[in-house]
Amino acid sequence: MSKYVALPKGVSETTFDKAIAEFRKILGEANVLTSGAQLAPYSKTMLAVPDGDKQPSAAIMAGSVEDIQKIVGVCNKYKVPIWPISTGKNLGYGSAAPGERGQVVLDLKRMNRIIEVNADLCYALVEPGVTYQQLHDYIRERNLPLWLSCPAPSAIAGPLGNTVDRGVGYTPYGEHFLFSCGMEVVLATGEVLRTGMGGIPKSNTWQVFKWGYGPYLDGIFTQSNYGIVTKLGIWLMPAPPAFKPFCIRYPDETDIVEIVETIRPLRIAMIIPNAVVISSAIWEAAATIRRSQYYSGTGQIPDEVLRDLAKKNGIGAWNVYAALYGSPEQIEVNWNIVKAFFGKSKKAEILTEKELGDNPAFRYRADLMRGDMNLQEFGLYNWRGGGGSMWFAPVSQAMGSETLKQMQMAKRILGKRGLDYVGEFIVGWRDMHHIVDVLFDKSDPAEVKAAYACFEEMLKEFTAEGYGNYRVNTAFMDKVAESYGPVQRSVFRKIKKALDPNGILAPGKSGIRI
Ligand code: ADP
Repeated sequence: MSKYVALPKGVSETTFDKAIAEFRKILGEANVLTSGAQLAPYSKTMLAVPDGDKQPSAAIMAGSVEDIQKIVGVCNKYKVPIWPISTGKNLGYGSAAPGERGQVVLDLKRMNRIIEVNADLCYALVEPGVTYQQLHDYIRERNLPLWLSCPAPSAIAGPLGNTVDRGVGYTPYGEHFLFSCGMEVVLATGEVLRTGMGGIPKSNTWQVFKWGYGPYLDGIFTQSNYGIVTKLGIWLMPAPPAFKPFCIRYPDETDIVEIVETIRPLRIAMIIPNAVVISSAIWEAAATIRRSQYYSGTGQIPDEVLRDLAKKNGIGAWNVYAALYGSPEQIEVNWNIVKAFFGKSKKAEILTEKELGDNPAFRYRADLMRGDMNLQEFGLYNWRGGGGSMWFAPVSQAMGSETLKQMQMAKRILGKRGLDYVGEFIVGWRDMHHIVDVLFDKSDPAEVKAAYACFEEMLKEFTAEGYGNYRVNTAFMDKVAESYGPVQRSVFRKIKKALDPNGILAPGKSGIRI
């Protein structure tokens, strides 16, 4: 019997003993966890695979860049793989667990300094452990006129982890990687790289000019395993004098075509400046309602039940959330344009704070669109119950016909195995992130199997139709990497070999290994 709950692939217990002893010397006893009880938070996922598949051998908590440099030295010496996490709240994508059984989780939550917030140039420089709530509080306590952009489970997640995994938010700065500027990265060799202007020793432009000189490197440290990001610059939005969130409801599923056709020109021209959300009826309902209140039969929730639920609760088949930002005068001009566009439709119900002020679904969206913290989206987990969730996230053109096709494909495949279509579209600029939450009961083996099979089938069918996922959970990384073709994969591998010849950093992340 091993004294470890798991061992890294290809590493013997005696070798691992030595690595652990060295980690303890660097970090102290309290920051090196190996017992089953201590590792429980690092092995639990919401995915449709057994938690044992993602069981780490240890979790270690670095406190500084120097700690990390020493840790990668030990990992190279003993060929021990480490999986870095920042706040580890990647729920529905893998949570705090490593990509593969036996990897050591490198938890960076102790590195939680807000190094700088610059209110003149509107940026922040943060470490991995900084949470959105922490940054939000820092800004409010100092009365700085700045707004954050955060993802839906905002308060507990953090800007660095979210941005390096290319997550999105809901303000005009919602495409988070686009609004990041300058990184510090510890490489597998122990070197510390500062990207862009950060290469100039006395530079004060690291957080204001993205490109630096020569090849732009920041991108290769996102959704990758080429380095451990230890600092990230993010741009913050100047707080606008006025803000007008609104909701437009449509009654029928096929209305998605009209919605997207109406929004696209407004969005591309930036009349609507933020990442608009078009949320489906169940997503909307889950803020306050459980599935069992309306349906106890087997199979996918029938359309007529959903229609009844929507009608009784004032929910649309689609619910569009967007906002206008600026001075009251600017907002008035743009509001008239928005009303004229949507007003052409007989079906659109245009609602504002006046009508929906207390509605919890509206409050949740309005908060997100101004970068305020909440955890309302966790309501989704109560819809069916049982703690299973995997995000299926194909990219689509912002064209009505495409979104309808994707929605119908997902709904049909989920329906075959009795799961519901719980989806939303987030309008980027010319693209939409189609986000489908595959919800299932993780304590029911039949539902786990169904969820896995649905995900796999969606991946296959969407790829065959030319659609790719922009991000995926740790159970499907190889399959998504495969869908992007052999040339991309081979280039990723060549870069990996050059930067991390022993393959110690997060092997398997995005399907990349040496
Ligand atoms: P959040 O809690 O914001 O969702 P996580 O900390 O869970 O973010 O990070 C999401 C994923 O991003 C991790 O699983 C890991 O693959 C990658 N990641 C997180 N932090 C780093 C980092 N500092 N350096 C490199 N990759 C990271």
